[in-house]
Formats: sequence, structure tokens, C-alpha cells
Amino acid sequence: MYCEICGRPIEGEPIPVEVDKAVLYVCRSCATRYGKKVLPPPPQQQQKRPVLQRPKAAPRQLPLEMELVENYADIIKRARENLGLSRETLAAMLGVKETVLRRIEAGQLQPDFSLAKKLEKALGIRLLVEAREEGGAKAEGRLEKGLTLGEIAEIREDGEK
Ligand SMILES: [Zn+2]
Repeated sequence: MYCEICGRPIEGEPIPVEVDKAVLYVCRSCATRYGKKVLPPPPQQQQKRPVLQRPKAAPRQLPLEMELVENYADIIKRARENLGLSRETLAAMLGVKETVLRRIEAGQLQPDFSLAKKLEKALGIRLLVEAREEGGAKAEGRLEKGLTLGEIAEIREDGEK
């Protein structure tokens, strides 16, 4: 920051002064010489607060988050039928309404964590997986980490030699 009157670098804070109805930021000596009126310093003293930023759109980033397997509806229905349980019976075992179970089996309703746990126990199935395991089930077409498509093409070419 240079003094707007004498042009010398300002040591410390520039001082705002009113000169001919214009506000200039000047050095201390110019401020005392030319300034008709020394304005109060601009309110820059406040410490910048670190803004808490939540990561946007990163739903799969919680490593310990449990999530429902994608085909939970089929798994539940098949397991129930294998056990020879009627929907009413299973619903009663779970303590939910039959309509709830029906909607779950239709994939229209996701059981919450505790209900999914109950279903797992009642049917001997696995419905909840750690979210980070998700990619493992459908690894086909998954690319090695850190490889770009170009690099993969190069590797392929090398292999063909
Ligand atoms: Zn000056």
C-alpha cells in the first residue's frame, strides 16, 4: 500500500483522511499534514472466522456408515419365502404392519436401520453393508485407482507387444 499523496510505501496501517471531500489512504506524515479530518479506521480488525464448510455432495464419504444393499427387496422376499413365512407372520415377528413389509419387499420403502437389523436376524440374511464395501459387489468395470483412461490404454498396448 502506497500513500495516495506522497506515493511512498506506508509503514503500518494506511490512514484514511478526507481531502477535498475525497477519502485518501495516506501515510502518517501526510495524514497530519494534509488531512482535514482523520476518519475512523475501517473495521478490518475483526478476525476472520473460519467458515465451517460442509463437503457438498459426498454422500459415500462416511467410512463407517452402514447402508442398505441395493437389492434388499429381493433378498428379503426370497429369504422369507425360503423360510416358508407368510408376510403377515414375518411382519408380526418384526413388529411392523404387513403393509410396511409389503412396501419394503416391493422396493418402495427402505427399512430403517433397526428394522433392517431385525430383518437380518429374522431371516438370516445380510442387508446392511459398510458403505465403502459397496463397490466390491459390482467391481466389474471398476478402474484401478489413479489410472487414467490414457494410461490404461498404454498398458494394454504394452501387453500386446
Ligand atoms: Zn504520504
